Amino acid sequence: MDEIIISGLKVFAWHGVYEEEQEKGQNFIVNARLRVDTYAAGNSDSLEDSVDYGKVCLFINDFMRINRYNLIETVANNLARKILVRFPITQSIEIEVMKPEAPIPLPLENVSVKVERSWHRTYIAAGSNMGDSEELIHNAMENLDADENCRVLRSSKMYRSKAYGGVEQDDFYNNVFCMDTLYSPIELLSRLQAEEKEAGRERLIKWGPRTLDLDIIYYDDLVLERDHLRIPHVDMCSRDFVLLPLSEIAPYKRHPILGMTTLELLGRIKESYVLTMKEEDDE
Ligand code: AMP
Repeated sequence: MDEIIISGLKVFAWHGVYEEEQEKGQNFIVNARLRVDTYAAGNSDSLEDSVDYGKVCLFINDFMRINRYNLIETVANNLARKILVRFPITQSIEIEVMKPEAPIPLPLENVSVKVERSWHRTYIAAGSNMGDSEELIHNAMENLDADENCRVLRSSKMYRSKAYGGVEQDDFYNNVFCMDTLYSPIELLSRLQAEEKEAGRERLIKWGPRTLDLDIIYYDDLVLERDHLRIPHVDMCSRDFVLLPLSEIAPYKRHPILGMTTLELLGRIKESYVLTMKEEDDE
C-alpha cells in the first residue's frame, strides 16, 4: 500500500520514568509511516482525498505535549492508535519514538521504540436467550460502535434458533456483525466480555441460557491458539446460526485454515438450529 512518510519531527515533551524527565522535559524525535490508498488523491489532486501531513504533525506535537507517560512504548502505542482514529483513511501506521537525550550515564546516540498498528477486520457472532434479546444485541453493537477503537460496518439480520449443546432452554436470537477494530485479539476478547457483563451475563452453565454471548469468529485471516482464545472460533463450522447470518454479510470470505467460503461451509452443515429469520417472524 502507498505510504505517507514523516521523518525527524522534533517535539519537546515530558515523558520518562525519572522525576527529572517529567519536570524538565527533553526532545523527542518522531518518525511515522501512514499506509493510505493515495489513488483518489493522485487523481483528484485534492487534499480532501488524502491525509494532511501538516495536520498529522501538529496532532503528534499536541498529543505528545498534552499527555505524560513513563514509557515511550506507551507514547508510541497510544499515538499510533489516536492517529488511526483521527485520520480514518489511514489503514495502518508505523510510529517510531526516539529519545536521543535519554538520561543514561553512558555515551548514547539514540534509543527508540517502533510500533505498528492497524485496523483489523473482525466478524462477531452475537446470541441471547434471556431478557430483551434483540435490544441487548443492538445495544452491544451500538456501544462497540461508540468505542473509538471499533467501527461496526454491517450486520446480518436477526435469526431465531433453537439452543445448541443439549441444555433445555428458550430459543436464541442470533446475528453476526462485521467490525473493524484497533484492539489486539486478547484486548478484543476482554472488550466483548465487558459488553457481556454490562448486559448482565453470568457464567453459570456451559451452553446454558445467557443474556448476551459475543464470539470472535474471524480476526483478519489470523489463526490463533491460546488457552482462552481460539480464532477462527472452533465451533463455527457446526453452527448454522453463525454461518447463515455470516453468509449474508461475507458469503465468499474463506476460512483461513479450511480454505472454504462461508457458503461452502454452510453447505456441509448436518444439523440445523435456525428456525426463522426475524423479519419473517414479524409478519
Ligand atoms: P461462551 O461465552 O460460553 O461461548 O464461552 C466463552 C469462553 O470461550 C470465554 O471464556 C473465552 O475465553 C473462550 N473463547 C475461546 N475462543 C473464543 C472466541 N473466538 N471468541 C470468544 N470467546 C472465545
